[in-house]
Amino acid sequence: METERIKCLIIGSGPAGYTAAIYAGRANLSPVLYEGIQPGGQLTTTTDVENFPGYPQGISGPQLMEDLRTQAERFGADIRFGIATASDLGQAPYKITIDGEKVIEADSLIIATGATAKYLGLDDEKKYAGMGVSACATCDGFFYRKKVVAVVGGGDTACEEAIYLAGLASKVYLVVRKPYLRASKIMQERVRKHDKIEVLFEHNVVGLFGENGVEGMNLVKRWEEPDEERYSLPIDGFFLAIGHKPNSDIFKPYLDTDEVGYITTDGDSPRTKVPGVFAAGDVADPHYRQAITAAGSGCKAAIEAERYLSEKGLI
Ligand code: NDP
Repeated sequence: METERIKCLIIGSGPAGYTAAIYAGRANLSPVLYEGIQPGGQLTTTTDVENFPGYPQGISGPQLMEDLRTQAERFGADIRFGIATASDLGQAPYKITIDGEKVIEADSLIIATGATAKYLGLDDEKKYAGMGVSACATCDGFFYRKKVVAVVGGGDTACEEAIYLAGLASKVYLVVRKPYLRASKIMQERVRKHDKIEVLFEHNVVGLFGENGVEGMNLVKRWEEPDEERYSLPIDGFFLAIGHKPNSDIFKPYLDTDEVGYITTDGDSPRTKVPGVFAAGDVADPHYRQAITAAGSGCKAAIEAERYLSEKGLI
């Protein structure tokens, strides 16, 4: 198999990966960045980003990612299309297989592969993507001021998002498939007390409808029980909060992860337990999952990579 030796390999092209590439480029590490399955990352699936500092009028997700990419290229980052399909982090240089056909031997590695929001798997979720369907209340909630929205999920994320949205929307349905919430007691209590949130226990969403975007959802109450009930409710926005899957599978044999798969790092730093291997952005962040926090951790990872390479006498 073809091999190539490089000083700093970055995997992933969200805000974490591109910011790491900007910093690593400016530090003369000649970074190579592989974009992964979704070039530009999750933000390319949102419309306007209004909470990334520096854009008082907001910016579209795809444009923000294009700007970050251009900035990284300006400092010499070599940005390539390709997906990391296997890893060997047993010893340095670390070996990453790209598209199953090429091996990169990297002196340092920044994993910024992100996380993928889970969806229910309905065709309508694709049909209305960016037209009323979202997996990020903090990103898109603002567009639903004084409107009616639904949040699917019964965990802490769903409760948090329902409470956040209830601060904006006129009404929030929290659609929970079980007869109870899985969320922490304190979140359950907050949801229960909120007069704008109505919890629909034992409900599943089976479809969405609308002419120019989401106008309603089709529900099944007590699915496949003798008293099963089917009905529809009008909504303007549909939010998924049924969990995220961090894209860490190929690194799991070498790195510590939590039970969900988020890569565990050393405190607030992006250092993993393998020297010279760093994790930045959503793949290591179960809590914040924001573009700006991902960018910040990408910056830290590049600074750490430079220090590591310098200490090892590799630059
Ligand atoms: P969780 O895995 O905790 O919850 C997912 C929820 O989605 C569950 O209620 C689950 O239902 C439901 N769900 C999953 N698949 C489907 C489906 N196909 N249809 C309908 N419902 C579905 O994920 P979270 O993202 O909420 O939380 C992840 C972790 O992060 C947790 O450990 C959580 O505590 C933590 N967290 C902590 C926060 C904090 O401390 N502030 C904030 C947010 C998250 P069911 O219960 O039936 O399986």
